[in-house]
Amino acid sequence: AHRPYIVGNWKMNGSRAMLTEARAIDRGAQRCPDVQVALAPPFPFLALLREETSNIGIGGQDCHTAAKGAHTGDVSAAMLADIGADVVIVGHSERRRDHGETDAIVKAKAEAALAAGLGVIICVGETLDERDAGQAEAVVGGQVDASLPLVQGAAEAAALGKLSLAYEPVWAIGTGRVAAVEDVIAMHASIGARLVAAFGDAAAKVRILYGGSVNGENASALLASPGVGGALVGGASLTADAFLPIVAAAA
Ligand code: 13P
Repeated sequence: AHRPYIVGNWKMNGSRAMLTEARAIDRGAQRCPDVQVALAPPFPFLALLREETSNIGIGGQDCHTAAKGAHTGDVSAAMLADIGADVVIVGHSERRRDHGETDAIVKAKAEAALAAGLGVIICVGETLDERDAGQAEAVVGGQVDASLPLVQGAAEAAALGKLSLAYEPVWAIGTGRVAAVEDVIAMHASIGARLVAAFGDAAAKVRILYGGSVNGENASALLASPGVGGALVGGASLTADAFLPIVAAAA
């Protein structure tokens, strides 16, 4: 079985001064070798965090679908790999919202990330209106089906070991309103069934993370739930004091 995977998404937060927090998180992670930890800072800080840490993975929050070229302002998966990043988050709901990212774009980004040798975390999640309308599993299932990377043949097993899905209900992000454990279990089972339909037995290699108002208090119950392979953490990943209890809860 996989080690639990705890990933901090700093979003558009951070500064050089916050390297202190990254170093403290790195030291704390060393005390929890059974947990795989990563931080995804904004692009300007990626290489700095890579140099300042040694026990945690470093991730981008997005990548372009292409490896290089005339795309001003964009960053490729190959560049992230080149500076020593381990993983990239694609299709976060904030990117879908702010940058009009579709499932097809997310899928192409996931494929670009795998081609560059990176791990990839594909984010999916329903809005509150969709949940209230009883559409949560249909919406998320549709996102999963349409954004899974195409991986085939001998490369499949290796690629799936590098793939994670993150279930992040949009209404739980940054709201302090964490999803109910039974809803998380149900959604992770539903996502898991989609993965089996797509990849067969090898789907067991794909981790499914939960994201949305995870903190040191609610992490244990979420992480102990069947089908929950880790957490994608926003606000509570910005300081070592907030983040390390979540890492410890996964151990
Ligand atoms: P919060 O943990 O701040 O709710 O953010 C979750 C998230 O979007 C992580 O990607």
